[in-house]
Amino acid sequence: MTKILEKITVLTLLGTSLLLAKPNIVILATGGTIAGSGESATKSAYSAGAVTVDKLLAAVPSINEMATIKGEQVSSIGSQEMSNAVWLKLAKRANTLLSSDDVDGIVVTHGTDTMESTAYFLDLTVKSKKPIVFVGAMRSGTSMSADGPMNLFNAVSVVTNKETAGKGVVVVMNDEIHSAREVTKVNTSSVNAFASPNAGKIGTVYYGAVNYYMQTLRKHTIDSEFDITKIDSLPRVDIVYGHADDTDLFVNAAVKAGAKGIIHSGMGNGNPFPLTMDALAKASKAGVVVARSSRVGSGRTTLHNEVDDEKYGFIATDSLNAQKARILLMLGLTKTQDKKALQDMYFKY
Ligand code: ASP
Repeated sequence: MTKILEKITVLTLLGTSLLLAKPNIVILATGGTIAGSGESATKSAYSAGAVTVDKLLAAVPSINEMATIKGEQVSSIGSQEMSNAVWLKLAKRANTLLSSDDVDGIVVTHGTDTMESTAYFLDLTVKSKKPIVFVGAMRSGTSMSADGPMNLFNAVSVVTNKETAGKGVVVVMNDEIHSAREVTKVNTSSVNAFASPNAGKIGTVYYGAVNYYMQTLRKHTIDSEFDITKIDSLPRVDIVYGHADDTDLFVNAAVKAGAKGIIHSGMGNGNPFPLTMDALAKASKAGVVVARSSRVGSGRTTLHNEVDDEKYGFIATDSLNAQKARILLMLGLTKTQDKKALQDMYFKY
């Protein structure tokens, strides 16, 4: 009888501990204002990426109630210093971590300047259904009303929420959840700096309470065809910004520098100035992939409107902004040079 009671006690304890087991979350820190430190609480000057991941986590002890947290420092940079090399390092590390049964999700702390790009890069290159959440801050940790601690608390709430799995990479800022493909930085200094102009936020997170309303239908993560495991560098793709009274200078310079692709961030529905148009046509004829994007900030860049894409062999970037169109073209060019196949990617991802 005592033996049976002992067994029941052991099983109950096991069951309870399984029920109480917290998810294992790894925080990959890259730098940015969320890890920024300044001399004054009321002045805007600060250095991005100065605070280590351990200090960052220690500032928000309540996240340890939601998950067993481990921190790793991937880089300590302002995200304006982000490079293809750091993207590849981060994506490879995320792939390795998420393939382990001991890791249930990842939070990436990141500067806000290029957060949308890194998030989209991981959205296309990390093969996992497990949640991946990006978070940053607009005010450094030493500033008055710093937004980093609440953003980090919310990010851990989102990564530990069952509904986040399978949604692709998401970005958590200012109580909102955005899909990596759609989100972009829309304000240089406000804490409300992110929006998804073509789709809207996919959810909200308010003091840790998560609510989803929609999700992206574009391919990502496990459905993506891009495999970076054996890749150490990406093909060169340059962005050229279009404007009134434009020149052919920068297109020609990109071609001369060996660009395999050029994203033209054009006026309106991706229109180039005539002189720039001629240079793009020449580049395309010489084998450089020319993709038309728009500097407008929302809407699609569509084929065959004012530009005869068929005649010049151009492709259009659908609703991706130029910086994300560049990422998709770099990854696309690791697989194919075929313009039709590359064009299809802009309709799938
Ligand atoms: N320049 C900073 C960065 O992107 C800005 C920020 O994090 O808000 O790293």
